[in-house]
Amino acid sequence: MSVSVTQMKQFIGGEWVESSSGETLEVLNPATGEVLAEVPAGTGEDVERAVAAAKKAWSEWHSKTPKDRMELLLALADIVDENAEELARLESQNVGKPWWVAKDEPPAMSDNLRFFAGAARQLEGKSAGEYVEGYTSMIRREPLGIVAGICPWNYPLYMAMWKIGPALAAGNVQIVKPAEQTPLTLLRFAELAQEVIPPGVLQVVTGEGIPTGDALVRHSDIRLVSLTGDTATGKIIAKNAADTVKRLHLELGGKAPMVVLDDADPATVAEAIKIGGYFNSGQDCTASSRILVSERIYDDVLSQTVGVVDAMTVGDPASDDDIEMGPVISHEQQQRVLGFLERATDAEATIVTGGGTVGERGFFISPTIVTDVAQDSDIVQNEVFGPVVTVQPFSSDEDAIALANGVRYGLAASVFSENVGRAMKVAANLDFGTVWINEHLFPLTPEMPHGGFKESGYGKDMSLYSMEEYTRIKHVVVKLAE
Ligand code: NAD
Repeated sequence: MSVSVTQMKQFIGGEWVESSSGETLEVLNPATGEVLAEVPAGTGEDVERAVAAAKKAWSEWHSKTPKDRMELLLALADIVDENAEELARLESQNVGKPWWVAKDEPPAMSDNLRFFAGAARQLEGKSAGEYVEGYTSMIRREPLGIVAGICPWNYPLYMAMWKIGPALAAGNVQIVKPAEQTPLTLLRFAELAQEVIPPGVLQVVTGEGIPTGDALVRHSDIRLVSLTGDTATGKIIAKNAADTVKRLHLELGGKAPMVVLDDADPATVAEAIKIGGYFNSGQDCTASSRILVSERIYDDVLSQTVGVVDAMTVGDPASDDDIEMGPVISHEQQQRVLGFLERATDAEATIVTGGGTVGERGFFISPTIVTDVAQDSDIVQNEVFGPVVTVQPFSSDEDAIALANGVRYGLAASVFSENVGRAMKVAANLDFGTVWINEHLFPLTPEMPHGGFKESGYGKDMSLYSMEEYTRIKHVVVKLAE
């Protein structure tokens, strides 16, 4: 059967344009491997064009009131809600997301935009006053100007919304680049919203990390780059942004431990691992990819988890809305995950369940559990970003904390225990930006921050803390009449 391929363009200066090179990139459906669409392979020249349009837009947009900015964000939220089913179906197709995952994303996106619509009117600073006799000091919290957002492929439109909300609320103009694998929902959203977005205030350039993302990072007129992506990419961007002393917000990789104390209920833990480890095919920066279990309940937790994981339905999300887990994003990612498993078995690890591909087409990996792993092994230390969890026993709470913290990442963690005081003590000692107790992965809410420690990056998404990333503080001093 032939599939119709959609041709899409970039949204620059309120217009739909091809790449300056005329080149395009293919966008695949990871459940089938078929080409869904072609998008422009953006160039440095396209980024120049977007920056020129952003500068033009800035001259008007920066004099808008917080109320005006709120109204734009509320209009964008309404557009997400009105088109929620279409956006979720498209995301499901482009990322291979099961329907139960994809359908919950648009309501979370519009909620996020509405939170920032309110935040636009809540910018805070120190009170103006006479801190030195004869002078009044005041604080202006200002937008940065032109900011860029560079997005990953695991939650393409959702992560873009995390960047759009605070950037526009703070009064910036923004250029967003989706990941090359998953540009479709952001482009479609821009199409749906084009009537309400003043030209140049929010633009979408498509293309690969190099040259398109790189051109954003190196541009001297762009004052902030917010990246959600791999830690390796974050390090490259940090080096390349140094030449223009550009502000960065880095939401990078994770290797979240789930710490299961000896008084936790094994059945509850097994269900939590199903969500924490395999939601979105484990392609989640906060996925519970390392299960640390007290040796006293290790066998019970492992056997119950294997039962739950083996019962999961895996397949093309388009074939059935009840599919629980879809493919990974690409052939490259599939091979990467298999490479981790091969190296783990070479190092004497045991694949208790899963470990292979599923079906004849698409990029599937079966839900996998690996045991007998050393703390310093590749599969424990590095982000796999697929449906793979490792399970390690520990002997005491102190031992668990040491294992949990013994990685270079610091994004998220969880503790399972019936004893709240004990769980709190462990949580206080975990070196991660989010710690859940008796939960993993959820809830996320716009009022609360999301962001990592250590090599998981710095800065916060969501919450009023994220407004710090997108604003600058100016001290204005007035000499009073004598
Ligand atoms: P990636 O780092 O490969 O790509 C992310 C984005 O960076 C893409 O848009 C890509 O085109 C761009 N990019 C790549 N090289 C670049 C360069 N040299 N200059 C400028 N831009 C460049 O990440 P990915 O594979 O798309 O996403 C998966 C990663 O994202 C995982 O590591 C995951 O943990 C992380 N992630 C983190 C969070 C978080 O909140 N911390 C959330 C989601 C995903």
